[in-house]
Amino acid sequence: TKAVYLKEYPAGMPADGDFVVKEMDVPSPGAGEMLCRTVWMSVDPYMRGRMRPDVKSYIPPFSLDAPLEGGAVSEVIESNIDGYATGDYVVDFTGGWKEYYLSKGERSQKVDPNLAPLSAYLGVLGMPGLTAWAGVTQILEPKEGETLFVSGAAGAVGSLVCQLGKIKGCRVIGSAGSKEKCDWLEKEAGVDVALNYKDYKNAGELTKALAAAAPKGVNCYFENVGGMHLEAALNCSALGGRMALCGMIAVYNNKEPEPGPSNLINMVGRGVMARGFIVSEYMDKAMEFAMEVAPLLAQGKIKFQESVYEGLDKAPEAFIGLFKGENMGKAVIRVGPD
Ligand code: NDP
Repeated sequence: TKAVYLKEYPAGMPADGDFVVKEMDVPSPGAGEMLCRTVWMSVDPYMRGRMRPDVKSYIPPFSLDAPLEGGAVSEVIESNIDGYATGDYVVDFTGGWKEYYLSKGERSQKVDPNLAPLSAYLGVLGMPGLTAWAGVTQILEPKEGETLFVSGAAGAVGSLVCQLGKIKGCRVIGSAGSKEKCDWLEKEAGVDVALNYKDYKNAGELTKALAAAAPKGVNCYFENVGGMHLEAALNCSALGGRMALCGMIAVYNNKEPEPGPSNLINMVGRGVMARGFIVSEYMDKAMEFAMEVAPLLAQGKIKFQESVYEGLDKAPEAFIGLFKGENMGKAVIRVGPD
């Protein structure tokens, strides 16, 4: 069976050669363990942070001597744990980047393949979905008629943020990196204005476009990207604006620190409240999130997109694609048959 290792820690943009696929034996489960077969694995931007041995982050760096880890939906093949039986499907944060693995079930959650497609538990109904929902409902608390600006709007997190914003009665402006993504945002996700940020050379140009799309200013900004997006959002902030600082993918591959936004002072004069958050802070709200979003999904009121890569060998390509914008919506890898 196969597993993906990091050959070396990437410098700058990760490349195929930083990864290596190794063959290993299928392990057998001991007492208190179960053998799981990965069906779907997730690639997520936070994994880039774990590929820096020198940076202190909220999760420890990956080792070069063990397979990579990440979110996965897996089938239980053999279980020595009460409560888990052969044929159950589980989602956990370790099964990614490998075909088979042992689990103690401590951080596994059973999922129902009849409620949603299995891969959705890695995206719209999984960690990115909870992130979107938490940032919107627990931090931004947008009110009807307010303007919500979302960067990384067509991705796994951003696409749900946009739609929750519309459901809450906001004017929603999303930014994304291609015409295809912007079309999806406006035609499918119901976003009022989608900006292709690649049309704008700098924060000044993006500010003009955002100001035109948000004549009353930006009340809520959901930050996924950083850099010129944050600068433009601050330039256009309304009085009492709020920001949910979720991620800053534009800087994850920087070799040198990004020069800071030159207009942070706007936060002062405009009374902007900004708060960083990590989704793990909201794990106890996962049920509330599911109760709100799963029915909306079933009723077709929330849409989601997936970019499916076939086979574990494609995992590095899928991961690298996150930083090049090659995924529509959530990027997932089909590791084995459902
Ligand atoms: P996505 O599905 O949105 O995939 C990444 C997308 O980011 C790409 O498709 C690309 O879209 C965009 N992107 C990549 N590089 C750049 C760049 N230099 N400038 C602008 N856009 C870029 O990923 P997720 O939805 O999973 O994650 C979105 C953000 O949320 C990330 O910053 C991530 O770290 C963060 N996050 C934070 C969590 C938390 O707990 N705080 C939890 C989960 C995610 P495009 O074509 O538009 O450029």
